[in-house]
Amino acid sequence: MPELPEVETVRRGLAPAMEGVRFRKVEARRGDLRWPLPKDFAVRLEGKTVEGLGRRAKYLLADLSSGDVLLMHLGMSGSFRVFRAGEEQTPGKYHHERSKHLAHDHVVFHMANGAVVTFNDPRRFGSMKLVPRAELEQEPLLRALGPEPLGNEFDAALLARACAGKKTSLKAALSDQRVVAGLGNIYVCEALHRARLSPKRRASTIALRSGAPHERAQRLVDAIKAVLNDAIKAGGSSLRDHRRTDGALGDFQHNFRVYDRDGERCPTPGCDGTIRRLVQTCRSTFLCPVCQR
Ligand SMILES: [Zn+2]
Repeated sequence: MPELPEVETVRRGLAPAMEGVRFRKVEARRGDLRWPLPKDFAVRLEGKTVEGLGRRAKYLLADLSSGDVLLMHLGMSGSFRVFRAGEEQTPGKYHHERSKHLAHDHVVFHMANGAVVTFNDPRRFGSMKLVPRAELEQEPLLRALGPEPLGNEFDAALLARACAGKKTSLKAALSDQRVVAGLGNIYVCEALHRARLSPKRRASTIALRSGAPHERAQRLVDAIKAVLNDAIKAGGSSLRDHRRTDGALGDFQHNFRVYDRDGERCPTPGCDGTIRRLVQTCRSTFLCPVCQR
């Protein structure tokens, strides 16, 4: 499943084709993705201009001149292809290769600048929804989301407050979208390794008894921001490679320090540990039992 850095990279890839540009024609080739598309989906988009393309957690939000916001989620297997000025690219970087099978091209945006933006999603867990801007605050998909990890408000004090008193593991706490939005299995594992904190550690131990942040909370916040920024940077550089349209990004996977590296040597300088895989709340966790405490 794409995580926050992938979605942010997709946003940056789509922005030049869509921002400030009018939808000339919209094709909804099927009536449903994860959920049914609104019956008037194409009508509500055609002729409207994308005033801005933003992101909240793993949702893309296109602000439209009509006052609607187009909410888009990639789901498990969704991707966009952008065809523009004779070139095609698939913005984003994915751990697994993206489908280009035309049968899975479900939504096509023909933009007034000539760009054609196609949403492909073999498993159809992706979604698109139109929400009036005034109702966005109440939107159930967004309302329960915690802070943006790259936002200024996400700091050690806030994370410590969210984890204080939690008996769950740090891994489970960070995977909880109400604690911090947009982190998934890969970046939780990576951030915990960078912070040298065990995924099994009780979440409450990053707060002092007073609720103030323990030094561990600062380490963890710094690690989360660093790992996300590095991943976005790696994705951004791949966008310049227009010939690479398969969506697979080799370079980025090589940046993982622990994820999927079961049995390899721990990359922490001075650590002679070996990366182990364990199962926590039904998901694989990768950690170094030596330097992560
Ligand atoms: Zn280690």
